[in-house]
Amino acid sequence: MTLDVAWAVSWVRASAATVVEHRDELVELDRQIGDGDHGENLKRGFTAVTAKLDALDAPPATIGEVLRLVATTLMSTVGGAAGPLYGTAYLRAAKATDVATLDAAGVVALLEAGLDGIVARGKATTGEKTMVDAWSPAADAAAKAAAEGADPRGVLVAAAQAAAQGAASTIPLVATKGRASYLGERSAGHLDPGARSSELLLAAAVQVAP
Ligand code: ADP
Ligand code: MG
Ligand code: MG
Repeated sequence: MTLDVAWAVSWVRASAATVVEHRDELVELDRQIGDGDHGENLKRGFTAVTAKLDALDAPPATIGEVLRLVATTLMSTVGGAAGPLYGTAYLRAAKATDVATLDAAGVVALLEAGLDGIVARGKATTGEKTMVDAWSPAADAAAKAAAEGADPRGVLVAAAQAAAQGAASTIPLVATKGRASYLGERSAGHLDPGARSSELLLAAAVQVAP
């Protein structure tokens, strides 16, 4: 079993749906330790992505083409920290997936490239209360699952579970990157909005995997 371009398109549409559904939650999380715009930023970005998908003349030929559309759209519409961070994640992921189908190793490559993009852009490491705390364990769990023989869907399931745990792990952390770091110790006791949105995006990938 492999994941194809139709899966990638479905993933993007499911991402838009979950971001819209969780818009208020993400705003509230960001209100607690940031400036309260994360849910609206992502809703605006993914709504624009969906509109661009709808307007395509022909279906994309590769998974990378789909992810590149996400990258360029998020970069031009999201703003703030999350726009360039997610934009770079999708851009790197696109470069790693210029193929029509992904096997388990291909899914790992997508996730590792996404993480690399976030780290290259934001220079955060794990434990700094950012989206890296969701992506890093997700990429690790994906690689482990693939090494143990999981199929692409199994790799995504492992990644999504690890991302959920990783997001929850941000609650007690003190932020040392991004806007939440301005709060210092007062950032502890809150779930990081970007880690939560990353968890939602990876859950969407599982939801639409055959
Ligand atoms: P802004 O803080 O500019 O308003 P958003 O609210 O859209 O942007 O996104 C905030 C999220 O971005 C944070 O919850 C965090 O997960 C993520 N973030 C911020 N800075 C960094 C960084 N340097 N590296 C990784 N992620 C970061
Ligand atoms: Mg914000
Ligand atoms: Mg902002």
